[in-house]
Amino acid sequence: MPGPPFGSPRSSGELRASLTSIRDTFSNRHHSLDFAYSHAHYLRNRILAVGVIFLLLTPLWALVDAMMLPRELWSITLIGRGLLLAGLLGVLLLARASREHIGRIRLSAGFLLALPAAFYALVLILLPNGDASRLAGYAFIPFLLVAALSVFPFTILESLAAGLALLWLLAFAQMVDGSWLTPAGFEGLWLLTSLLVVSLAANHFQLSLLMRVYRQATHDPLTGLLNRGALSLHLEKLQAWRREEQSSGSLPPCAVLMMDIDHFKKINDTHGHSVGDLILAEFARVLLAQTRNDDCVARYGGEEFVILLLNTPGDRAAEVAERIRRAVETHHFPDHNHLRVPVTASIGVASLQGDEAPEQALERADAALYGAKEAGRNRVMAAT
Ligand code: GH3
Ligand code: MG
Ligand code: MG
Repeated sequence: MPGPPFGSPRSSGELRASLTSIRDTFSNRHHSLDFAYSHAHYLRNRILAVGVIFLLLTPLWALVDAMMLPRELWSITLIGRGLLLAGLLGVLLLARASREHIGRIRLSAGFLLALPAAFYALVLILLPNGDASRLAGYAFIPFLLVAALSVFPFTILESLAAGLALLWLLAFAQMVDGSWLTPAGFEGLWLLTSLLVVSLAANHFQLSLLMRVYRQATHDPLTGLLNRGALSLHLEKLQAWRREEQSSGSLPPCAVLMMDIDHFKKINDTHGHSVGDLILAEFARVLLAQTRNDDCVARYGGEEFVILLLNTPGDRAAEVAERIRRAVETHHFPDHNHLRVPVTASIGVASLQGDEAPEQALERADAALYGAKEAGRNRVMAAT
């Protein structure tokens, strides 16, 4: 069974860190699934752009070869260029068709860089008498590819792996042309290594920026929770995921909780708006503490919050809601003097009926919340 459609929204602590740490750009191990999708989408656009550039350069370079290379060499490179062109077309088609497949998008990025490298290696292998010095311009390929690493939002680990493979390619080329272990050879390796370091730094900055923009677009700055726009996207993904699961025979039970802090206006009026803000942030922490990583916790607006509970039947969802209600009621919400501000919340619960749209369940949860308010607040009410 594929995993739920979204990963942990629990990047809230990190949200406040203005600098993305090296940990986040070193590898994708700590990325939420949701960011991974966003990242893959961006990567895919870059692959398509760079792929088209490579695709156009390949036949143009064949013309340059025709002018520069002796005939017997030219025919060898022409075969290689034909294979390269076919490979690049394949990469473009793969990337185009891989909208939601993160693994396939990464694979196309790998192929995009590996193909020109393999082309160079092939020409070197097929070279008659090992006469690489006549391959004017080709020694430039590993350098071009290391520079191209900086165009992609790769993690440092991904670029490092690609960079090491390209260093190996350069070493191989040097063994063919006889410059291996000569001063000129060392100079080439040193240049490539320096270029790789610059590309790694570019990857770090590019990925940091991407993360920051992603977080600002999808998270609420006060509470660090998902914002309403991100919630809408999650609702759509939830629908798609449930349909997929349904077609494989099981419809996962899911539920929506809609909650609203009781008499919040009075809290603002009594303690001031800044205490109101503190309470909203603390309220978000209580919600995160009471839910699992797979659940989606969002600030719907003002003092209203929504939680999507995955793989949770209705009775279980009502228990979770009651647990949250009690946790809020007993939690120590401090004002600026650390004195306790009493806070309660009302919660409406709706479990998704059949293949009902999650937005519809959200409306029913909202109606149930209204019922809970009408019935006296600080209570959980299940939707009909
Ligand atoms: P009810 O129990 O019926 O929900 O009453 P209420 O007072 O909580 O509801 P009402 O909708 O009348 O008031 C919500 C208040 O929440 C009004 C608004 O000023 C306040 N609010 C909304 N967003 C923020 C915010 O970001 N910070 C602070 N401090 N207050 C906010
Ligand atoms: Mg309200
Ligand atoms: Mg309220």
